[in-house]
Amino acid sequence: MIQFNDPYQWIRSAAQETPHHPCLEDDFGRRLDYAQVDHAAGLQGAALLELGVRTGDRVAFQVEKSLDAILIYLACLRVGAVVVPLNTAYTATELAYFLADSQPALFLARPSHEDEATQVATDSGCSQVETLGTRQDGSFAARIAKQRTPAPVTAVDPSGLAALLYTSGTTGRSKGAMITRGNLIANAQALATAWRLVPADRLVHTLPLFHVHGLFLSLNAVFAAHASVRVHDRFEPLETIESLGTATLFMGVPTHYTRLLASAALTPESVRLVRLFVSGSAPLLAETHQAFESRTGKAILERYGMTETLVNTSNPYDGMRKPGSVGLPLPGVEVRITEATRESENQAIGMIEVRGPNVCAGYWRAPEKTAADRTADGFFRTGDLGLIDADGYLHISGRAKDLVITGGYNVYPKEIELALDALPGISESAVFGVPHPDFGEGVTAAVTLVPDFQVNEQTVLAALKDCLAAYKVPKRLVVIAELPRNSMGKVQKNRLREIYCDLYGN
Ligand code: AMP
Repeated sequence: MIQFNDPYQWIRSAAQETPHHPCLEDDFGRRLDYAQVDHAAGLQGAALLELGVRTGDRVAFQVEKSLDAILIYLACLRVGAVVVPLNTAYTATELAYFLADSQPALFLARPSHEDEATQVATDSGCSQVETLGTRQDGSFAARIAKQRTPAPVTAVDPSGLAALLYTSGTTGRSKGAMITRGNLIANAQALATAWRLVPADRLVHTLPLFHVHGLFLSLNAVFAAHASVRVHDRFEPLETIESLGTATLFMGVPTHYTRLLASAALTPESVRLVRLFVSGSAPLLAETHQAFESRTGKAILERYGMTETLVNTSNPYDGMRKPGSVGLPLPGVEVRITEATRESENQAIGMIEVRGPNVCAGYWRAPEKTAADRTADGFFRTGDLGLIDADGYLHISGRAKDLVITGGYNVYPKEIELALDALPGISESAVFGVPHPDFGEGVTAAVTLVPDFQVNEQTVLAALKDCLAAYKVPKRLVVIAELPRNSMGKVQKNRLREIYCDLYGN
């Protein structure tokens, strides 16, 4: 595979070498080959320049998923601007924070939200607002349509910023991770090589564009390999299965896999051409991995990444894909475990730290927060706990902030969740700590049940006592209809902690 030193060259080189090779296709039958994508990004780039956007300026967008939304990202790469993707679920108050913090030269909003967006942007010091819809509508689309000459491709150093990606921010204010162009290049190259991407590959894309997984991890590797993407505006199991009939790649979050498995339409034949299923962003249960393999004959490849670091580790393409593990460090990435707090099967669980060309340049205008997450020797402290097994594979035990400390003992939620999930009738579980008058924190479990199953709290807790040390066994177990999750499928333990904060009557 060719090595590039600028991310826009992924598009430019394909447009020159194989101009008519397919690149993007949407739900409405719009198809763009690489030459058309290069041209369209050039015209969008010209519209950005017309609005006064210059190298290093931020362009924030809160728009629905579409090919034009992907093109905003490519146009920004082309003219050297910095994209700031924002979740469409953010409220006006949240939006005000992101705009005031990132100070974009331009904010692209949904046509349906124009008035509110303009008000919030003006109050936050951003004077330019344009709109962009999903069907080439909105004021920005009209401005693009008027452009005649594509913007020149701006040369930007790999240390230049490509994006500010705001972290999910489950504790405190979310921070803007400064992703450089060099980060994108290094990670896309590593993934395209590790996962053997070739121009003939076709990815089914159902992830949102405001998160690192959908915007960068999946698209960049495909662009770097000059492959193509079938873009769906959302994840819908039947539509996805139908689309997989002509695809070779799928990248999803664990919830996608459980929802695919719930559909009888998922058969070996329906995914016959797919050579790689990748999962990330949240833990994939070993049970889901096994169920998927026995249904389809394909072993899901799990990998581990985060907003600040893109992808750190991946199970191997060839060789053992270990269910329950996130695999081995990607080439160029170093992973170590520090501050080990406990020995588990002779391996130390501790803080996962990473160093490599994938790690972001720090947090936007927050040098103290940047410094707090870096060690003296340049490793990034991920905030995740884990262990490296005898084969060198990384296993994640949970977030450090989710660690429960009860009566002075550390309890790793993942261990309890695995024990709960293995019990009959339990579909999913989340273990968390809430204030307890005696123990400081009380280990607490929320579970969902397999349809038509009843469980008795005391019976389940008694069953756990057979396999876990007493201090690890939850003090209480609550049955709920559904675990609260964010749009990337991550269980929101902060919400569970809020809901059950008075469970032990403090
Ligand atoms: P985000 O920055 O929103 O992508 O969230 C990153 C966090 O998601 C990581 O720090 C991990 O806690 C979690 N995560 C990502 N991938 C995995 C995975 N394969 N298994 C378990 N947790 C994961």
